[in-house]
Amino acid sequence: MPGRPETLVTEAGMVPPPLCPSAPATLPGARIIGVVEGPAEAPRVRHLGTPRPVPPALPAVLAPLRMGEVLRVAAPCAGGACLHHEGTRCRLADGIVERLAPAVERLPPCAIRAECLWWRQRGRDACRRCPAVVTTRRVRGSAVPGEG
Ligand code: SF4
Repeated sequence: MPGRPETLVTEAGMVPPPLCPSAPATLPGARIIGVVEGPAEAPRVRHLGTPRPVPPALPAVLAPLRMGEVLRVAAPCAGGACLHHEGTRCRLADGIVERLAPAVERLPPCAIRAECLWWRQRGRDACRRCPAVVTTRRVRGSAVPGEG
């Protein structure tokens, strides 16, 4: 896949690509990391203590809602196959830090922090905004990609 972060091989062994924390649930290796709670105008993601696999039947259960409206999913970064990837950076991680106000003061508990691309790129600034990120937003009745 062009531009995809390579799996690095170091003296310590294989290093997999970082995880995108706002990924489509259809990507290989996708895991549910959070649940969107709160009102639509002020959503807050509650991070799960343990990431969960995405049940194959979940899209049908949630319909007509899209999974990205109610869940946050992490998956290995798709690199150049992702619209948000530019050079070696994730523009989405930069964008949320530049456009969103912090949603929380303290870092939310998060099971994927050691592997998270946004954490590696923007650190605490990304984590303090992460609970306000909804992957798919509904605009005038239609689900559209939002922050992820
Ligand atoms: S809280 Fe931080 S480490 Fe966890 S998914 Fe969000 S940005 Fe990544």
